[in-house]
Amino acid sequence: MKILVINTGSSSIKYQLFDMDRDSAMVIGLVEKIGEKNSILTHKTIDQNGDGKEKVETSHIADHTKGLARIVELLTDPEYGVIRDKSEITAVGHRVVHGGEQFKSSTVINEKVLKTVKDNIPLAPLHNPPNLTGIEVAKTIFPGAPQVAVFDTAFHQSIPQKAYLYALPYDLYLKNRVRRYGFHGTSHAYVTVEAAKFMGISRDKFNLITIHLGNGASMTAVKNGRSFDTSMGLTPLEGLVMGTRSGDVDPALPFFLARNLDMDLKDIDQLLNKESGIKGFCGINDMREVEDRARAGDERAKTALDVYAYRIKKYIGAYYAALGRLDAIVFTAGIGENSPLIRSMCCKDLQELGIKIDEDKNRERRKDERDISATDSRIRILVIPTNEEKRIARETKRVIEHIN
Ligand code: AMP
Repeated sequence: MKILVINTGSSSIKYQLFDMDRDSAMVIGLVEKIGEKNSILTHKTIDQNGDGKEKVETSHIADHTKGLARIVELLTDPEYGVIRDKSEITAVGHRVVHGGEQFKSSTVINEKVLKTVKDNIPLAPLHNPPNLTGIEVAKTIFPGAPQVAVFDTAFHQSIPQKAYLYALPYDLYLKNRVRRYGFHGTSHAYVTVEAAKFMGISRDKFNLITIHLGNGASMTAVKNGRSFDTSMGLTPLEGLVMGTRSGDVDPALPFFLARNLDMDLKDIDQLLNKESGIKGFCGINDMREVEDRARAGDERAKTALDVYAYRIKKYIGAYYAALGRLDAIVFTAGIGENSPLIRSMCCKDLQELGIKIDEDKNRERRKDERDISATDSRIRILVIPTNEEKRIARETKRVIEHIN
């Protein structure tokens, strides 16, 4: 079975074609700068040994329809293709950012689902509209294939009310759906499943804290295999320090900025979402470079790392208390998978809680799933590479098998 996974942004389409018999991607690609004169398409094939060919082309791709049509041409190309005809694609899985309270799991897309995703645009004004475009375009290009929506918010729909409600006038929740939703659910769910397999623990008895540290960052307390609390909220701004987002701040900060710096809503939005976090300290948000600067003695970079890791450590404590019993901590995404320094700082001096890293294992440069905890650490500390596209492909397969 072949499944095409699509993640559509306002000017981009990320895609992967999966061979579900192998549970792995045959093609990984990206169309960027859609609508611009020089759109870029990068298309890579991957064979069973992990080898393959890459094609990069620059041309004008006017819109998403043209982009997806070109992707299909390449998927069926005699040199860079892996299938003979698009009819070999059984289904298309879409990343959809916001499913609101309506979607607790992935679903086959029909008119009612499309309407609900549209209704959720106020909750994700930057993401749901391009996701909808991707679905409309894929429907025209693959009219016979089921389309499945996999929501970033769905994994967190199991969070109890005491964790998702803000202490605000209750009508704001009832009438305007103001509550914590959480994001990165596809990643937190994927590493939960993989970590359970890695440890040989039944998922429904597995308590863990998943720490997704990419350019965006979030943590989830997972109780009995289900999300119990998560650090992002109504929007992805809440929680951890991120590449360019502040994470948690005093909610009165916007009043201060408006009164004293004469900033308007747009300025404050830009400041908190795009100019803060690691970038706010260092002017850059690439963690590799920040670590290099800190090693070279840059005080601002050291401060950025301290604030970044301290926030994560505080959430580890909070989520440990929320869960009561903890089996594992899982690091994932760009920084979580690749930065021994950040992992070490987050777990430093937590041995009293049963959390102790083996620094030799932590420093090993590896790409696979691994246990980096000391032998006397009561709680396992794991590094599990995330794969959101694979989760979307697996979910798509599960959903269409269920309807057939
Ligand atoms: P993602 O959004 O998951 O692609 O993660 C992007 C972040 O991962 C960027 O801040 C990168 O600098 C960071 N990253 C990637 N490799 C490393 C590494 N070896 N050490 C530290 N940070 C890294």
